[in-house]
Amino acid sequence: MTDLTSEFSAELNSDTPIMAFAQLQLAAPLARAVAEMGYETMTPIQAQAIPVVLQGRDVMGAAQTGTGKTAAFALPLMQRMLQHENASTSPARHPVRALVLLPTRELAVQVAEQVELYGKYTNLRSAVVFGGMDMKPQTLELKKGVEVLVATPGRLLDHIEAKNCVLNQVEYVVLDEADRMLDIGFLPDLQRILSYLPKQRTTLLFSATFSPEIKRLASSYLQDPVTIEVARSNAAASTVEQHFYSVEGDDKRHALHQVLKDRGLKQAFVFVNSKLGCARLARSLEHEGLKTTALHGDKSQDERLKALDAFKSGEVDLLVCTDVAARGLDIKDVPAVFNFDIPFHAEDYVHRIGRTGRAGATGLAVTFVAKSDQRLVTDIEKLLKTKIELEALQFEENLPDIRKQGHINDGRRLYREDGSDQRRPEDFARGPRSEPRRSRPVQQDPFFEKPYEPSLPPEAAPAWEAAAGRPGVRTISSNIKTKRKVPALFQAQVA
Ligand code: AMP
Repeated sequence: MTDLTSEFSAELNSDTPIMAFAQLQLAAPLARAVAEMGYETMTPIQAQAIPVVLQGRDVMGAAQTGTGKTAAFALPLMQRMLQHENASTSPARHPVRALVLLPTRELAVQVAEQVELYGKYTNLRSAVVFGGMDMKPQTLELKKGVEVLVATPGRLLDHIEAKNCVLNQVEYVVLDEADRMLDIGFLPDLQRILSYLPKQRTTLLFSATFSPEIKRLASSYLQDPVTIEVARSNAAASTVEQHFYSVEGDDKRHALHQVLKDRGLKQAFVFVNSKLGCARLARSLEHEGLKTTALHGDKSQDERLKALDAFKSGEVDLLVCTDVAARGLDIKDVPAVFNFDIPFHAEDYVHRIGRTGRAGATGLAVTFVAKSDQRLVTDIEKLLKTKIELEALQFEENLPDIRKQGHINDGRRLYREDGSDQRRPEDFARGPRSEPRRSRPVQQDPFFEKPYEPSLPPEAAPAWEAAAGRPGVRTISSNIKTKRKVPALFQAQVA
């Protein structure tokens, strides 16, 4: 296993102890699970947070996703909870003692999976509840008793209202990705949930940034917290090589094929700004011979999990996604992230490129910039405090035939019309609620209603290699510069 401490050294504070897990003296069942996962050295957030949480202090942590944040809270919480561990089958002996709240169902599943792994040699039970799924199986699990409950706020409230779980013995609360929970309007839900919890408890808040709203939330619900900041807020991962290419709308798919081929990329995330654009782009790329799946808020929970699994197993090469669907996903070894549409919010740029170069691995982030995107580029420059140099991309002629398929919706219309982006709280984990909900037209693409069918066997060569060899050469548009080797102008690390 790699030594993550040295890889994160740029982010370490001078007083961050460099520690091996062995020095922590974790209880045997936890130490065994950690060793089995191959962790040897703690990441900076772990080295700083674990001892503090073990002391029972509240924590306000700023950490990028992919820094090992989940173990940073899960391990010390479980260590403390081991005092209550028991093998009884009685639900009463397994009350909820730790509550972990996350903004999206994918994140909830991901964190729950890690919690399960860390606790596999203990008698502590864990469960996850999130919207978009039948409540019954979740209810059955809750009624059996669970010590660690991972949840999205809307669905948790549904279960509280249905009296499926009692939270009066909660000792630990984790508000993970708290900035995003506030962004999407979960504050009232969080306030309600927190009102059900005992006042005497340990509260841990993790957020990518410490905005004034986050600070307000912390001052209301945290007691004398220890602030831990292992990476500068809004800093892009230092291990990510970033490029910004000038490409106009119609040439973006061509540019995508070109970069995939030039870099010999096997898998990538492709970010777009709208759900409709996401579905359309995925379908176009699939037609062009790339094994592609789409992940966006209009897909059912089952479809979203299938899309993720297909990507994780290597059945598909490209995951075309919106910000909502991809926030915080921990899919290891994604070699590249494409911003097919430049994000409307500069912070989303940081989150998007955080999907690559995770846990110290190197990654590539490629952003396509149209002429009309200049203001958004300036916003990213301001956030990263770095000058962005636009590069020209050279195109080869023997790329797949890319027919014009009409304008791919980049979400601008929706963004402009209602003054926000396409993300709405109801895109997230919301189950049946007592209050009426605003109905909205659902943009469904029947293509994505079908179960996922791989177009090629998993062991086949990257699709773009095969596609590139095909006849059916397109004519290069006048927007594309003539073939000329252009050096990478933006190699500098931004952190
Ligand atoms: P997280 O930020 O919690 O989503 O973790 C990102 C990834 O890093 C997960 O896949 C973890 O399994 C992995 N990870 C966490 N801590 C360590 C560690 N100390 N050593 C190696 N890998 C780790």
